[in-house]
Amino acid sequence: MADRRIVLLGGGHTQLIAAPKLRMLLGAAHPITLIAPATRLLYSGMMPGWLAGQYSFDECALPLEAIARRAGIEWIHGNAVDIDFRGRTVHLSDGPSCRYDLLSINVGSANDPGDIGVGPPTLIPTKPFASFVTQWQRWEAGARDSGRLWGDHPPGRVLIVGAGAAAVEIAFALATLRRRHPVLAAMQVELAGDGTRLLPALPAGAAWLARRSLERAGVQVSLGRRYVGAATGAARFASGDPVPCDLIVVANGARPPRWLTLSARRDGVAVGEDGGIQVDDAMCSISEPTVFASGDAATFAAQAVPKSGVHALRQGPVLAESLARGAGAPVPASSYRAQPRALALLNRCDGTAIGAWGPLFFAGGWAWRWKDRIDRDFIARFPTGDPAV
Ligand SMILES: Cc1cc2nc3c(=O)[nH]c(=O)nc-3n(C[C@H](O)[C@H](O)[C@H](O)COP(=O)(O)OP(=O)(O)OC[C@H]3O[C@@H](n4cnc5c(N)ncnc54)[C@H](O)[C@@H]3O)c2cc1C
Repeated sequence: MADRRIVLLGGGHTQLIAAPKLRMLLGAAHPITLIAPATRLLYSGMMPGWLAGQYSFDECALPLEAIARRAGIEWIHGNAVDIDFRGRTVHLSDGPSCRYDLLSINVGSANDPGDIGVGPPTLIPTKPFASFVTQWQRWEAGARDSGRLWGDHPPGRVLIVGAGAAAVEIAFALATLRRRHPVLAAMQVELAGDGTRLLPALPAGAAWLARRSLERAGVQVSLGRRYVGAATGAARFASGDPVPCDLIVVANGARPPRWLTLSARRDGVAVGEDGGIQVDDAMCSISEPTVFASGDAATFAAQAVPKSGVHALRQGPVLAESLARGAGAPVPASSYRAQPRALALLNRCDGTAIGAWGPLFFAGGWAWRWKDRIDRDFIARFPTGDPAV
């Protein structure tokens, strides 16, 4: 068992909790490798606050490389593009391939930008966060440097696609940013979602509050429109006329990355309807015992688990135990059961938040301070970003 190499692919919310615990369970000598394309992970709970300028990147970045090195885990800076499940090898776009005996996949999700043509509008999917951060910073720097939003036709229209918590928080963030920055002040922010209401996973009262707050912040909300793609300066929907816009932020339909689903299907590894690796409650693939998956990249075969950072984090301890058991350590079997309800706190990015717990909903400055405390306390549990620590 001592030589079974464990590869942790993706430093997502689950593996940043699982990695140190796994090291503790297996002892110092066991070979463990963590592969991720970025040394730091933007914490999802604080991402809209970062976008709105409430937090610096340093305040809400989780230091993956430092966490790995501190736990004596080999760190590989790499971006997986394919997994050969039969040959037990992860292929990277920018480095040598990596062999494994046990593989744990926690690569998060990606938004589908739909059918897109060349040229405007600019399209920025919110997931994965690493590429969102780069693309957003490039776009914002361009706007600030040139003193205008887009080419020759200000004011610009930004369309946020989606109606769930991510889309709503991004809309609040952009509305706040507009108030804070003179160049961005010209932005028209619009949110377009397909269902009949905002926040379908939260109580109707919270959705009503969110809509009223967005409209008061100057965000136009339109529902019942299924986004299908973009071309020649406009977003296209399944019905109705194209909507001219300059920037589209895609915050709906996050699914496991396409390359992962394709690799799994090709090699006969079971995937769920959403394309995630199908796992049992111990997070082991139901078809391939050397493969584990968690967070947004996993589809639980026997229970419905929402794709959220809260659930991804809670899977961490169970994943560590399952991997240790898979490597032959005498660890009792454990399984993940998603809690039936979770506290939701949505940042309105103006010093207040909207919250929901089961059927209850609320809003106010105190809810924001509560959220801010929870998020800052969480970040403070981890070492600083210095990889040498
Ligand atoms: C705007 C927004 C706000 C959100 N706010 C909240 C919130 O407040 N609360 C909440 O519970 N959830 C929130 N979510 C959802 C949450 O972000 C995800 O559910 C959560 O991040 C999933 O965690 P994960 O562990 O699956 O992967 P992630 O945390 O997404 O991490 C994936 C990891 O895999 C790495 N990776 C990606 N591709 C590759 C590759 N090809 N090769 C190697 N490594 C790779 C990434 O760099 C990263 O380290 C929000 C989502 C969005 C879009």
